[in-house]
Amino acid sequence: MFRIHLLSDGTFKLDGGAMHGVVPKALWEKQNRPDEKNRILLAVNSLLIEYQNEKILIEPGIGSGHSEKFASLYAVEKKRSILSDLKKMNISLQEITMVVPTHLHFDHAGGVADWETGRLLFPEAKHIVQKKEWEAAMNPHPKNQASYLSEFLEPLKKGKLDIIDGDKEIVPGVKLVLTGGHTHGHQAVFITPPEKDGETLVFPGDLIPTRAHVNPLWVMAYDVAPEQSIKMKRMLIETGAREAWTYVLVHDPVEAVGKIALENNKYCFNPVNSGLLLSDV
Ligand SMILES: [Zn+2]
Repeated sequence: MFRIHLLSDGTFKLDGGAMHGVVPKALWEKQNRPDEKNRILLAVNSLLIEYQNEKILIEPGIGSGHSEKFASLYAVEKKRSILSDLKKMNISLQEITMVVPTHLHFDHAGGVADWETGRLLFPEAKHIVQKKEWEAAMNPHPKNQASYLSEFLEPLKKGKLDIIDGDKEIVPGVKLVLTGGHTHGHQAVFITPPEKDGETLVFPGDLIPTRAHVNPLWVMAYDVAPEQSIKMKRMLIETGAREAWTYVLVHDPVEAVGKIALENNKYCFNPVNSGLLLSDV
Protein backbone atom coordinates (compact mmCIF):
# COMPACT_ATOMS: atom_id res chain seq x y z
CA MET A 1 0.00 0.00 0.00
CA PHE A 2 1.43 3.35 -1.08
CA ARG A 3 0.87 6.60 0.79
CA ILE A 4 2.10 9.60 -1.18
CA HIS A 5 2.27 13.09 0.31
CA LEU A 6 2.99 16.42 -1.39
CA LEU A 7 5.52 18.44 0.64
CA SER A 8 6.79 22.02 0.24
CA ASP A 9 10.21 23.48 0.88
CA GLY A 10 9.06 27.07 0.44
CA THR A 11 9.68 29.38 -2.52
CA PHE A 12 12.58 31.19 -4.18
CA LYS A 13 13.20 33.25 -7.33
CA LEU A 14 15.33 32.83 -10.45
CA ASP A 15 15.89 35.01 -13.49
CA GLY A 16 12.88 34.66 -15.79
CA GLY A 17 15.00 34.74 -18.93
CA ALA A 18 17.26 31.92 -17.73
CA MET A 19 14.16 29.85 -16.84
CA HIS A 20 12.76 30.14 -20.37
CA GLY A 21 15.86 29.95 -22.61
CA VAL A 22 15.24 31.19 -26.13
CA VAL A 23 11.53 31.85 -25.56
CA PRO A 24 10.88 35.62 -25.96
CA LYS A 25 9.94 37.46 -22.78
CA ALA A 26 6.80 38.80 -24.46
CA LEU A 27 5.53 35.18 -24.46
CA TRP A 28 6.69 33.83 -21.08
CA GLU A 29 5.88 36.91 -18.99
CA LYS A 30 2.17 36.32 -19.56
CA GLN A 31 2.44 33.03 -17.69
CA ASN A 32 5.23 33.70 -15.19
CA ARG A 33 5.15 37.39 -14.14
CA PRO A 34 8.65 38.72 -13.35
CA ASP A 35 9.46 41.09 -10.44
CA GLU A 36 11.39 44.37 -10.83
CA LYS A 37 14.66 42.39 -11.04
CA ASN A 38 13.21 40.15 -13.79
CA ARG A 39 13.01 37.20 -11.38
CA ILE A 40 10.06 34.80 -11.30
CA LEU A 41 8.57 33.13 -8.24
CA LEU A 42 9.22 29.39 -8.02
CA ALA A 43 7.95 26.79 -5.58
CA VAL A 44 10.05 23.92 -4.25
CA ASN A 45 7.71 20.92 -4.27
CA SER A 46 8.66 17.46 -3.04
CA LEU A 47 7.06 14.06 -2.49
CA LEU A 48 7.18 11.66 0.40
CA ILE A 49 6.34 8.06 -0.50
CA GLU A 50 5.52 5.61 2.28
CA TYR A 51 5.67 1.99 1.19
CA GLN A 52 6.01 -0.90 3.65
CA ASN A 53 9.06 -0.01 5.79
CA GLU A 54 10.34 2.62 3.38
CA LYS A 55 9.92 6.38 3.64
CA ILE A 56 11.26 7.84 0.39
CA LEU A 57 11.82 11.59 -0.01
CA ILE A 58 11.75 12.61 -3.67
CA GLU A 59 13.61 15.93 -3.95
CA PRO A 60 15.06 17.12 -0.62
CA GLY A 61 14.54 20.77 -1.63
CA ILE A 62 16.48 24.01 -1.22
CA GLY A 63 17.31 23.31 2.42
CA SER A 64 18.13 25.45 5.43
CA GLY A 65 20.97 27.35 7.07
CA HIS A 66 21.63 29.54 4.01
CA SER A 67 23.74 32.68 4.34
CA GLU A 68 21.86 36.00 4.34
CA LYS A 69 23.47 36.83 1.00
CA PHE A 70 22.24 33.59 -0.61
CA ALA A 71 18.74 33.93 0.86
CA SER A 72 18.34 37.48 -0.45
CA LEU A 73 19.95 36.79 -3.86
CA TYR A 74 17.41 34.02 -4.51
CA ALA A 75 14.58 35.51 -2.39
CA VAL A 76 14.28 32.26 -0.41
CA GLU A 77 11.09 32.17 1.70
CA LYS A 78 10.27 29.29 4.00
CA LYS A 79 6.67 29.71 5.14
CA ARG A 80 6.62 25.92 4.88
CA SER A 81 9.56 23.54 4.74
CA ILE A 82 10.11 19.82 4.32
CA LEU A 83 11.30 19.76 7.94
CA SER A 84 8.13 21.44 9.24
CA ASP A 85 5.92 19.26 7.00
CA LEU A 86 7.56 16.07 8.33
CA LYS A 87 7.18 17.33 11.89
CA LYS A 88 3.46 17.91 11.30
CA MET A 89 3.17 14.30 10.14
CA ASN A 90 5.11 13.09 13.20
CA ILE A 91 7.87 11.66 11.03
CA SER A 92 11.41 12.04 12.35
CA LEU A 93 14.36 12.77 10.08
CA GLN A 94 15.93 9.45 11.13
CA GLU A 95 12.91 7.57 9.74
CA ILE A 96 13.59 8.63 6.14
CA THR A 97 15.12 5.58 4.42
CA MET A 98 15.83 6.97 0.93
CA VAL A 99 16.47 10.45 -0.47
CA VAL A 100 16.20 10.90 -4.24
CA PRO A 101 17.20 14.26 -5.74
CA THR A 102 16.33 14.54 -9.46
CA HIS A 103 19.75 16.23 -9.79
CA LEU A 104 22.23 18.02 -7.52
CA HIS A 105 21.51 21.70 -8.23
CA PHE A 106 21.06 23.65 -4.99
CA ASP A 107 17.30 24.10 -5.34
CA HIS A 108 16.79 20.30 -5.56
CA ALA A 109 19.47 18.78 -3.32
CA GLY A 110 20.30 21.70 -1.02
CA GLY A 111 18.10 20.02 1.61
CA VAL A 112 20.35 17.00 2.15
CA ALA A 113 22.35 18.92 4.80
CA ASP A 114 22.14 22.03 6.97
CA TRP A 115 24.37 24.56 5.18
CA GLU A 116 25.46 26.24 8.40
CA THR A 117 26.46 23.18 10.41
CA GLY A 118 27.20 20.75 7.54
CA ARG A 119 25.07 18.13 9.32
CA LEU A 120 23.31 15.61 7.07
CA LEU A 121 19.59 15.98 7.69
CA PHE A 122 18.55 12.39 6.94
CA PRO A 123 21.40 10.43 8.52
CA GLU A 124 19.88 6.97 8.05
CA ALA A 125 18.80 7.48 4.43
CA LYS A 126 20.40 6.09 1.33
CA HIS A 127 20.93 9.05 -1.06
CA ILE A 128 20.36 7.84 -4.62
CA VAL A 129 22.19 9.86 -7.26
CA GLN A 130 23.00 9.18 -10.92
CA LYS A 131 26.70 8.57 -11.65
CA LYS A 132 26.82 11.28 -14.32
CA GLU A 133 25.24 13.75 -11.89
CA TRP A 134 27.68 12.96 -9.11
CA GLU A 135 30.63 13.37 -11.48
CA ALA A 136 29.28 16.69 -12.83
CA ALA A 137 28.69 18.02 -9.32
CA MET A 138 32.14 17.02 -8.06
CA ASN A 139 33.86 18.61 -11.04
CA PRO A 140 31.39 21.18 -12.43
CA HIS A 141 31.73 22.74 -15.83
CA PRO A 142 32.05 26.55 -15.50
CA LYS A 143 28.64 26.88 -17.25
CA ASN A 144 26.79 25.39 -14.29
CA GLN A 145 29.23 25.86 -11.44
CA ALA A 146 26.93 28.35 -9.68
CA SER A 147 24.19 25.69 -9.43
CA TYR A 148 26.35 23.09 -7.63
CA LEU A 149 27.46 24.29 -4.20
CA SER A 150 29.94 22.54 -1.92
CA GLU A 151 28.11 23.60 1.27
CA PHE A 152 25.67 20.73 0.99
CA LEU A 153 27.53 18.40 -1.39
CA GLU A 154 30.56 17.89 0.90
CA PRO A 155 28.52 16.33 3.78
CA LEU A 156 26.93 13.94 1.25
CA LYS A 157 30.32 12.21 0.88
CA LYS A 158 30.08 11.09 4.52
CA GLY A 159 26.50 9.81 4.16
CA LYS A 160 25.08 6.66 2.63
CA LEU A 161 25.55 7.44 -1.04
CA ASP A 162 24.09 5.05 -3.61
CA ILE A 163 25.44 5.99 -7.04
CA ILE A 164 23.43 4.41 -9.86
CA ASP A 165 24.03 4.43 -13.60
CA GLY A 166 20.78 4.46 -15.59
CA ASP A 167 17.18 3.52 -14.83
CA LYS A 168 16.36 1.73 -11.58
CA GLU A 169 13.26 0.48 -9.78
CA ILE A 170 13.96 1.41 -6.14
CA VAL A 171 10.86 -0.34 -4.73
CA PRO A 172 8.16 -2.13 -6.73
CA GLY A 173 6.20 0.66 -8.47
CA VAL A 174 8.79 3.46 -8.07
CA LYS A 175 11.17 3.82 -10.99
CA LEU A 176 13.97 6.34 -11.55
CA VAL A 177 14.53 7.15 -15.22
CA LEU A 178 17.75 8.80 -16.39
CA THR A 179 16.59 11.59 -18.72
CA GLY A 180 19.65 13.84 -19.14
CA GLY A 181 18.88 17.17 -20.82
CA HIS A 182 18.74 19.67 -17.95
CA THR A 183 21.91 18.01 -16.60
CA HIS A 184 23.49 14.85 -18.02
CA GLY A 185 22.59 13.00 -14.82
CA HIS A 186 19.04 14.36 -14.40
CA GLN A 187 16.47 11.71 -13.45
CA ALA A 188 12.65 11.68 -13.44
CA VAL A 189 10.55 9.58 -11.07
CA PHE A 190 7.63 7.37 -12.14
CA ILE A 191 5.24 6.02 -9.52
CA THR A 192 2.71 3.32 -10.47
CA PRO A 193 1.11 1.96 -7.29
CA PRO A 194 0.06 -1.67 -8.03
CA GLU A 195 -3.25 -1.20 -6.16
CA LYS A 196 -4.18 1.81 -8.33
CA ASP A 197 -4.70 -0.17 -11.52
CA GLY A 198 -2.23 1.39 -13.94
CA GLU A 199 -2.45 4.99 -12.72
CA THR A 200 0.85 6.80 -13.13
CA LEU A 201 2.24 9.71 -11.16
CA VAL A 202 5.30 11.35 -12.67
CA PHE A 203 7.76 13.80 -11.13
CA PRO A 204 9.58 15.23 -14.17
CA GLY A 205 11.95 17.49 -12.16
CA ASP A 206 13.46 20.36 -14.12
CA LEU A 207 12.32 19.02 -17.51
CA ILE A 208 8.84 20.44 -16.75
CA PRO A 209 9.41 22.84 -13.85
CA THR A 210 6.24 24.98 -14.23
CA ARG A 211 2.94 24.91 -16.17
CA ALA A 212 4.48 27.24 -18.77
CA HIS A 213 7.08 24.55 -19.55
CA VAL A 214 4.47 22.04 -20.75
CA ASN A 215 5.41 23.10 -24.29
CA PRO A 216 8.13 20.59 -25.40
CA LEU A 217 10.17 23.44 -26.93
CA TRP A 218 10.19 25.64 -23.80
CA VAL A 219 13.54 24.58 -22.42
CA MET A 220 15.61 26.42 -19.81
CA ALA A 221 18.85 28.25 -20.65
CA TYR A 222 20.44 26.29 -17.80
CA ASP A 223 20.07 22.99 -19.72
CA VAL A 224 23.38 21.40 -20.72
CA ALA A 225 21.82 19.38 -23.56
CA PRO A 226 18.68 21.20 -24.82
CA GLU A 227 18.09 18.79 -27.72
CA GLN A 228 17.99 15.90 -25.26
CA SER A 229 15.62 17.94 -23.04
CA ILE A 230 13.25 18.42 -25.99
CA LYS A 231 13.39 14.70 -26.87
CA MET A 232 12.63 13.61 -23.30
CA LYS A 233 9.99 16.33 -22.83
CA ARG A 234 8.22 15.13 -25.98
CA MET A 235 8.11 11.62 -24.54
CA LEU A 236 6.97 12.84 -21.12
CA ILE A 237 4.28 15.19 -22.50
CA GLU A 238 2.96 13.18 -25.46
CA THR A 239 2.84 9.79 -23.74
CA GLY A 240 1.53 11.29 -20.51
CA ALA A 241 -1.24 13.23 -22.26
CA ARG A 242 -2.32 10.04 -24.08
CA GLU A 243 -2.20 7.86 -20.97
CA ALA A 244 -3.60 10.50 -18.56
CA TRP A 245 -0.59 10.55 -16.24
CA THR A 246 -0.70 12.84 -13.22
CA TYR A 247 2.26 15.23 -12.99
CA VAL A 248 3.79 16.89 -9.94
CA LEU A 249 5.67 20.01 -11.05
CA VAL A 250 8.63 20.85 -8.87
CA HIS A 251 8.63 24.64 -9.29
CA ASP A 252 5.08 25.74 -10.13
CA PRO A 253 4.05 28.21 -7.41
CA VAL A 254 0.32 28.01 -8.20
CA GLU A 255 -0.65 24.47 -9.22
CA ALA A 256 1.72 21.61 -8.50
CA VAL A 257 -0.50 18.70 -9.51
CA GLY A 258 -2.30 18.18 -12.82
CA LYS A 259 -2.79 16.32 -16.06
CA ILE A 260 -1.71 17.34 -19.57
CA ALA A 261 -4.21 17.49 -22.43
CA LEU A 262 -3.88 18.36 -26.11
CA GLU A 263 -6.34 21.22 -26.77
CA ASN A 264 -6.43 23.01 -30.17
CA ASN A 265 -3.02 21.54 -31.07
CA LYS A 266 -1.48 22.89 -27.88
CA TYR A 267 -0.54 20.99 -24.72
CA CYS A 268 -2.24 22.42 -21.64
CA PHE A 269 -1.77 21.71 -17.95
CA ASN A 270 -5.02 21.18 -16.07
CA PRO A 271 -4.90 21.05 -12.26
CA VAL A 272 -6.54 17.99 -10.69
CA ASN A 273 -7.20 16.67 -7.22
CA SER A 274 -5.43 13.38 -7.61
CA GLY A 275 -6.60 10.36 -5.65
CA LEU A 276 -2.96 9.23 -5.72
CA LEU A 277 -1.88 12.06 -3.44
CA LEU A 278 -2.78 12.62 0.18
CA SER A 279 -3.31 16.24 1.18
CA ASP A 280 -2.59 15.75 4.85
CA VAL A 281 0.18 18.29 5.49
ZN1 LIG B 1 15.32 23.64 -10.32
